[in-house]
Amino acid sequence: MRMKPTGDLTLIKKMNTSIVLDAVIKNAPLSRARISELTGLNKATVSSLVQDLIDNQLVVEIGPGESSGGRKPLMLLFHEAAGYAIGIDLGVNYIRGMLVDLRGGVIAEHRQQVKRKFKELPLELLIASIEMLMDKAPRSRYGVVGIGIGVPGIVDDGGVILFAPNMKLSQVDLKAKLEKRFSLPVTIDNEANAGAQGEQKYGAGRGIANQIYVSVGIGIGTGIILNKELYKGASGFSGELGHLSIQYDGKPCACGNQGCWELYASENALLEQAASLGFESLEELLQAAECGDEQVISLFDSIGDYLGAGIANIVNVFNPEAVIIGNRMSRAAEWLKPAIEEAVGKRTLSFHRDRLRILFAELQEESAVRGAAYYAIDSFFTKIKS
Ligand SMILES: [Zn+2]
Repeated sequence: MRMKPTGDLTLIKKMNTSIVLDAVIKNAPLSRARISELTGLNKATVSSLVQDLIDNQLVVEIGPGESSGGRKPLMLLFHEAAGYAIGIDLGVNYIRGMLVDLRGGVIAEHRQQVKRKFKELPLELLIASIEMLMDKAPRSRYGVVGIGIGVPGIVDDGGVILFAPNMKLSQVDLKAKLEKRFSLPVTIDNEANAGAQGEQKYGAGRGIANQIYVSVGIGIGTGIILNKELYKGASGFSGELGHLSIQYDGKPCACGNQGCWELYASENALLEQAASLGFESLEELLQAAECGDEQVISLFDSIGDYLGAGIANIVNVFNPEAVIIGNRMSRAAEWLKPAIEEAVGKRTLSFHRDRLRILFAELQEESAVRGAAYYAIDSFFTKIKS
């Protein structure tokens, strides 16, 4: 089959540009000669593509580096300040926002908390948060390139929030609303997927190919990373493992099932049981555990045991290299970890445990907001490369 030569050449050039840009992002500072070695592209091609990237302000030249004999080469850097992205973690009672550069480095943050859960989508607060962060973006070639949002619910591949049981939301086309308001590309995903992405790019999951991120907050959600890519399933609904049945005749769940994992192992489950001991928040419980309160320590232990039981199921299915526990309950790592490890040890096959690590989120409660911002960066690069 004959292809139109111009179209073909443009496509090849775009693919090569993307290869060169990736080489700079991952290996900078580096020389043109080194890019040529790394990519297998010839030096003339690399030079011309690098010039395009410099013209578009995505790559900058800095002073000469070390010479391996002969003239010292000019080194290249990725220009992360060529644009900015906004990440938002929309929680059931808070909005956490960040402005980041194109490398994901945090430039500004903004957080709002309400006493009770939001009764409906807090659209005005959300818009105000985004505006506040946009105002903090330094002047740059591309400005704010996009907005990524993590939400606590099921989001379809078109960015429609189908169901958010902890927030009483359904069928909200948030993506369309915000794109219209800001005239910027908006990416919306489930909070656990965003958290998985955040840990994979910037946190405990860096360099780990197969990992399951377990977001333990008011509910439980999971983000599945296989071969360094987020696994989203046929329609974007993968990872609803908070609704794994772990108690055959268990308590009824808002999802329609009964005995779901999150009813026994989430922050909600913890607080329900803590109420009889006179505690109202995770913060109070952490403080009590710190002071050696036996009842509280044993409560964390029992929640950890349930967490471990669910994690064991996940491990038996996916054989991951790491399970990363994130969101609010990662703050209780010290108190949960022994029970989780014991339960996983008891309930999984030794083959599965061989290379398994149980980790806690390095970005703590910021995994989802950083991951959400990454979505915006990623879609910007996908667009300029295509
Ligand atoms: Zn359920």
